[in-house]
Amino acid sequence: MGGRFLVTGGAGYVGSHLVRALRARGDRCTVLDNLSTGHRAAVPDGVALAEIDLADRAAVDKILADGPWDGVFHFAALSLVGDSMRDPMGYFAANAGNSAGLIDACIRHDVKKLVFSSTAALFGLPERLPIAEDDRIDPGSPYGESKFMVERMLAWADRVHGLRYAALRYFNAAGADPDGALGEDHRPETHLIPLAIDAALGRRPPLAVFGTDYPTPDGTCIRDYVHVSDLATAHLAAFDQLDRASVTYNLGSEAGHSVHEVLASVARVGGCKVPHTLAPRRPGDPAVLVAASARIRAACGWTPRFTALDDIVATAWAWRNAHPSGYDGG
Ligand code: UDP
Repeated sequence: MGGRFLVTGGAGYVGSHLVRALRARGDRCTVLDNLSTGHRAAVPDGVALAEIDLADRAAVDKILADGPWDGVFHFAALSLVGDSMRDPMGYFAANAGNSAGLIDACIRHDVKKLVFSSTAALFGLPERLPIAEDDRIDPGSPYGESKFMVERMLAWADRVHGLRYAALRYFNAAGADPDGALGEDHRPETHLIPLAIDAALGRRPPLAVFGTDYPTPDGTCIRDYVHVSDLATAHLAAFDQLDRASVTYNLGSEAGHSVHEVLASVARVGGCKVPHTLAPRRPGDPAVLVAASARIRAACGWTPRFTALDDIVATAWAWRNAHPSGYDGG
């Protein structure tokens, strides 16, 4: 007998893959999403979509009152580091303020477990690599700070009210549902892999490689790309152990890839060149970000299915190729 879950941000990139994973194992879910960045078409038939803004406390309260809920998965957030540097207070209100309201509603309506989509951006410039859970937290942006604020709220919600939580910190969600039902569709798109694929397909101008003078072997930034479906299974694995205690996990591949390596992977997968230009650094980009994931592997037996970058890129390529306009047009 499956459970019943509320997924905030379930029409977005990672949230929609989690909804698919929940349904695949027989759980029922309702998506709460204001569709500001999510897509109606990413919500499958048979899943209720509550088109609600988390800032609307009365509406959030009403849906949580409509329990019982076995748990809440909380993805809904603003997630662009650059935007957060321009509008810090907007990010604190949307990410921290709205999360406070959601957590409060969970407590009042006796929801016992919450899984929170956090970020490795709360580590700022890492002091060592790969980044482990207990490494120094020093968010380099209001975005990272706003996510850390929510982690602290959850710690207090557990201590005072017994709300069990899992905080999952990840960086570069990548790829698409291997069955082709879901994929990445940000507007505007700012992420490396979809932009590189579109450049290779001639749908966008050549990709600008942001910075070639970093202290890395080929001079470009190194990032940790984790397949979005593996992130989804990590959320399930973390939820399943919340009977024991609240947890905080980093979700990384422990193997970083440079921008040039990503472009080479896209070229291999697509069988064509990726037109690109060399551009100055993008402000705020650290040279290397690679997260550890030993803790969740040991505690939950989480094993990512996609470990090779080419396999991750292949799923992203298949999605972009089949959906030139993303979710528009089916
Ligand atoms: N990047 C790039 N050109 C682009 C977009 C991204 O060179 O048009 C680089 C970016 O500087 C970073 C890496 O690709 O080093 C991943 O960037 P992305 O925006 O995908 O994710 P982030 O690491 O910022 O979360």
